[in-house]
Amino acid sequence: MNFDILTIFPEIFPGPLASSITGRALSEGIISVNPIDIRNYSEDKHKNVDDYPYGGGVGMVMQPGPIYRAHEDLLQRYDYSPETILLSPQGEKFSQKLAKELSQEEGIIFICGHYEGVDERVRDLVVDREISLGDYVLTGGELPAMVLIDAISRMLPGVIGDADSPQQDSFYQGILDFPQYTRPQEFKGFKVPDILLSGHHAKIERWRKKQALKRTWLRRPDLLEETELKDEDIELLQEIKQEVEGQD
Ligand code: SAM
Repeated sequence: MNFDILTIFPEIFPGPLASSITGRALSEGIISVNPIDIRNYSEDKHKNVDDYPYGGGVGMVMQPGPIYRAHEDLLQRYDYSPETILLSPQGEKFSQKLAKELSQEEGIIFICGHYEGVDERVRDLVVDREISLGDYVLTGGELPAMVLIDAISRMLPGVIGDADSPQQDSFYQGILDFPQYTRPQEFKGFKVPDILLSGHHAKIERWRKKQALKRTWLRRPDLLEETELKDEDIELLQEIKQEVEGQD
């Protein structure tokens, strides 16, 4: 999958994406990360790409021209239509569901804003969707673009060794992941739960599901409202609620 990034800081890429799992996906050609310097599309002799806001006020705004021309140039390279995403605190909140949905695209173009953001006509003319990392404001769109690239890449076939592993991750099935343990069996007085050492697969599966549901109910009950639970999950939840209420 091709990820093109329109940015005024192309040197930031691939950055952390060159390491670990995304690094392997890059070297195996499963993904490509191509930063494009918006300044190369400036018609200004100083390569400026920002200007004062009409109507006055603080800060600078990224001009539409350089971004529009860089985007047009990119579109000509492909025989498919990449999804164009503007990183913005005003966008739809990023989620695992969205990462999965975007992993179906053939390619994605990210537009990274800076200063007070981009001229509104960028949204009008080239943006398919606007995505936010969360309700806080960052200095630029580059870190959010990297976060999206990482999360989307994990959903692509061949990126994660064990094809099943993303499915048990938090949010993939609408609930949080269960607690994980590895060696040693006892650490500073804390023991691995006996059930995980029992070798009884069905019981281990049930325990894990119960722990995942319990964590979700205690930490993120909002997720349970949006998730379609199986009958056995509902039974497990009732059991959890009785146990927790019995402790009070
Ligand atoms: N004035 C803008 C506003 O209040 O909506 C914020 C501009 S912010 C300082 C500069 C750029 O950082 C934005 O154009 C966007 O590309 C990026 N950015 C900041 N916070 C973000 C977030 N939560 N999610 C995604 N991108 C963000």
